[in-house]
Amino acid sequence: MQRHAAAMAERSEMTGRADEAPEPCAGSLSDDQISDIGRQAHALIEQLYPFCRSLTGEGVRQSLRVLQQIIPLTIHEVPSGTPAYDWVVPDEWTIEDAYVLDGRGRRVIDFRASNLHVLGNSSPIDARVSREELLEHLFSDPAHPDWIPYRHTYYQEAWGFCVPHRLLDQLNEPSYRVRIDSRLEPGSLTYGELAIPGCEPGEILISTHTCHPSLCNDNLSGIAVAALLARELEHTVRRFGVRFLFLPATLGPLVWLSRNERKVPAIRSGLVLAGIGDRGSPTYMRSRRGNAPIDRAVRHAFEHLSRSGTIRDFAPAGYDQRQYCSPGFDLPMGVLMRTPSAEYPEYHTSADNLELVTAEALGDSWRLIRVAIDILEQDRCFVNQFPKGEPRLGPRGLFADAARLGLLWLLNFSDGRHSLLDIAERAAMPLWVLQEGARRLKACGLLKEANERATG
Ligand code: ZN
Repeated sequence: MQRHAAAMAERSEMTGRADEAPEPCAGSLSDDQISDIGRQAHALIEQLYPFCRSLTGEGVRQSLRVLQQIIPLTIHEVPSGTPAYDWVVPDEWTIEDAYVLDGRGRRVIDFRASNLHVLGNSSPIDARVSREELLEHLFSDPAHPDWIPYRHTYYQEAWGFCVPHRLLDQLNEPSYRVRIDSRLEPGSLTYGELAIPGCEPGEILISTHTCHPSLCNDNLSGIAVAALLARELEHTVRRFGVRFLFLPATLGPLVWLSRNERKVPAIRSGLVLAGIGDRGSPTYMRSRRGNAPIDRAVRHAFEHLSRSGTIRDFAPAGYDQRQYCSPGFDLPMGVLMRTPSAEYPEYHTSADNLELVTAEALGDSWRLIRVAIDILEQDRCFVNQFPKGEPRLGPRGLFADAARLGLLWLLNFSDGRHSLLDIAERAAMPLWVLQEGARRLKACGLLKEANERATG
């Protein structure tokens, strides 16, 4: 038995491999548990799907109240008229019903069938209009004649309906009864916030948008994954705080930033989550800084989880990095997506539905974010206590695992200036493997933790 163990050790000395490599911890969750989280995320999306979310209004509140059943989310209400830099919180939109009736009183367009049918933020109307006038207020996409496009009119007063292009051929009557039972009146903009405390100063910001009606990948995937991530992190001891924001795109981050400027310097890393539930492989858009710790952490997770992730440079297009990474803030925040917005045909249409998002993709996105957070938290500096020459590993029982756990890399670069992630990148090894190596070297007194160097 002993000889067998010695032979195994010898073999792993030679090949540098062993049967078991440390896994990325991801909260020490198994693949089965992560699959289960993916299924829960899909179920949560199903629950939130019917609500008619918008920039403001009851649909967002209903959605955040559902999240409150999972996490202790604070719901903030910011009154209409409140300035946020160059913007102002608009009147709140309330929608009760909307339809177009034909001559026999049948609903040929019906908000109750899909909330995408009404132009988001549409003004009210109650009138009989000619076919020609109605057509001027209908939005459709000839390229996808069976899908309802998603359109809104946030900053211009208008009324309208969105319909499958195929429907236009069927509108043959000279006039139609049109009713949109909506109100635009002083109210508030609603957003959700949860701050999980950490042991050390600094926090990681996770932001996701909440302003789209019945669309699954665009908004609900981010909402569901963020909520289930918050639920898991909430019950663990964190090195850094993690703040979750669930807010309407563009105006939400502007409102939060303008109300919380004193909290901004504490943000040491962050992610905008957008479209993380479709079958495409993950895509990461780097922060404006380009080489922030979060950029390196996500790249590391992509490289070492053998996922086919793609990394793109920052661009002020798409999601809320446009606000967080504006020059006045330049926060170290990237965007996690799967297929980037507007690069899948279902984007902003009724085909962004419960079939477009999968439990597998949602679970995989959850895991990537969780691993990236682990990397940021585990990225510490150590100091070699025997820096003159290599200390002997054999007498300390470390020889067999030296190559597998990168012990020589750790001993050489642990000079108090290179962090675990620095060493992991240089050695082309996963950080969680070096983390285990550092733990072993620390246990026998060869390494000591350096005074914190802020890298995370
Ligand atoms: Zn969108």
